[in-house]
Amino acid sequence: MCNHIFADSTRERFKRRGNFQCVYCLDDLTKQPERQSLDHVIPQHKGGSNQPNNVVLCCISCNSRKNGKSLKQFGYYMEIKIHGYDRLAMHRRVRNQLRRKMPVLEQGWND
Ligand SMILES: [Zn+2]
Repeated sequence: MCNHIFADSTRERFKRRGNFQCVYCLDDLTKQPERQSLDHVIPQHKGGSNQPNNVVLCCISCNSRKNGKSLKQFGYYMEIKIHGYDRLAMHRRVRNQLRRKMPVLEQGWND
């Protein structure tokens, strides 16, 4: 959702910061570029920004499942959907990712 708003280099930096893994369901997205998606933790329509402290890497399915939900609502939703889902661990992963510095790209990525 809304991936077009970021430059390619910015998308790449978000992906690297997220270790090419869905922060919500932990799927490894390294070899699945078509499933890589960027999510606004606080949805844009609720005032969430495009800044690194509000954007995480996730998979397309989690992004569409989260949709306009708050992180808290989404955590409860995932607990119902996925047996054994650890909502608090997910909250921690999201917090940690948002805090992490955006990686610097090597030359050739400037746009
Ligand atoms: Zn996912």
